[in-house]
Amino acid sequence: MAEPTPTPAPASPTPAAEPDGLVIRCQCNAVRLRTSTLRPIGIAHCHCTNCRLQSGSAFGTSVYFPPAKGFYPLEPSLIAEGGPVGYFSHGTDSGNTMYCYFCRACGSRLIHAVILADGTLRQTVSVKGGAIEDPDGVLDWASAKHIFVRSAVIPLSPSWETYETTIANGPTKK
Ligand SMILES: [Zn+2]
Ligand SMILES: [Zn+2]
Repeated sequence: MAEPTPTPAPASPTPAAEPDGLVIRCQCNAVRLRTSTLRPIGIAHCHCTNCRLQSGSAFGTSVYFPPAKGFYPLEPSLIAEGGPVGYFSHGTDSGNTMYCYFCRACGSRLIHAVILADGTLRQTVSVKGGAIEDPDGVLDWASAKHIFVRSAVIPLSPSWETYETTIANGPTKK
């Protein structure tokens, strides 16, 4: 079976990114991208085993933005051979395919995007939280939801909003 395209067509016409989106960058600065909007749809700290592996830490932070021209799908030149961004894909428990993008030079994980079983792009693209420059403090880290806490390896604060696995109906659901 052919590898699915890493730059699928979104389900609906893609708007252009806002010019003042937040800068996404890798540790070595070889990759600089920009989020589609200044404010995210939602933020989640994920304690699943895959997020531990990708972050090399106790959990991974996902900051969700809608797809948009200039953000995601990524420009083909970025992921072409010799481009700065590498990727790989893996199947998820829910039967979808997750594409994981990283800097080819320093290895920083940058973006995760999910292609649903019907071939369309999930309308919440996850940017790895630590890769976002946020000089004006628009990201509300403290209100982030904690997901997949069933596999958490750190103590959970009673003040956190926690979910055993995913949040039903998506990351923005209260
Ligand atoms: Zn880098
Ligand atoms: Zn996770």
